[in-house]
Amino acid sequence: MKTIGMLGGMSWESTASYYKTINQGVKQKLGGLSSAQICLYSVNFEEIEKLQHAGQWDETALILSKAAQSVEAGGADFLIICTNTMHKVAEQIQRNISIPLLHIADATAAKLVKKGITKAGLLGTRFTMEQDFYKDRLTERFGIEVVVPSSNDQTIVHNVIYDELCRGVINSGSKELYLTIVKNLFEQGAQAVILGCTEIALLINQNDTSVPLYDTTEIHAEAAVNLALSD
Ligand code: GLU
Repeated sequence: MKTIGMLGGMSWESTASYYKTINQGVKQKLGGLSSAQICLYSVNFEEIEKLQHAGQWDETALILSKAAQSVEAGGADFLIICTNTMHKVAEQIQRNISIPLLHIADATAAKLVKKGITKAGLLGTRFTMEQDFYKDRLTERFGIEVVVPSSNDQTIVHNVIYDELCRGVINSGSKELYLTIVKNLFEQGAQAVILGCTEIALLINQNDTSVPLYDTTEIHAEAAVNLALSD
């Protein structure tokens, strides 16, 4: 089994989901007392979040590159960054390590392509919904057209992530707002909606809507298990 390197803590609420899903996946495939070999570096999200909102992305890349180097030195065979947003600096991180990076958008796109989805809605932080680093990768590498919420709805989605989900707060009013936004994306022609922030599945899941949802946390964690157990 390969050792999975994880950059976590962004936020730790979703890193906990990753940790559980990865270990359950290994247990399911190998049985007995099998569990995943993991080397996790969990950062202080307060520091990262301040730099994000100040637009100091190069600073975040420095912090995460150092963390990734520690993960590599700790014996990881490959790396996953346990947040969609911080894939904004994925290339900078990759340049500072020699183990491969399993990109969250690639793992998600592979699933969408398999299901024949060519137009998908995207929920995430404002950085992920507004900027090109994530959407362009889906479109240019996988031919998936991406629909994002209106500017007002993006503000709602973004604020719920930072003010509630990353703090462990699950609010039924916010859930209703998210489900309305999912419905809007579907009405704009999205065949499915990508939960492109690793905390969103803490708020909504497939039982809440008939619109197909693609949870990036689950998909990324499953892809990590498959890679860890591959030859
Ligand atoms: N975990 C979130 C994501 O997947 C947001 C927190 C962050 O900014 O890293 O984008």
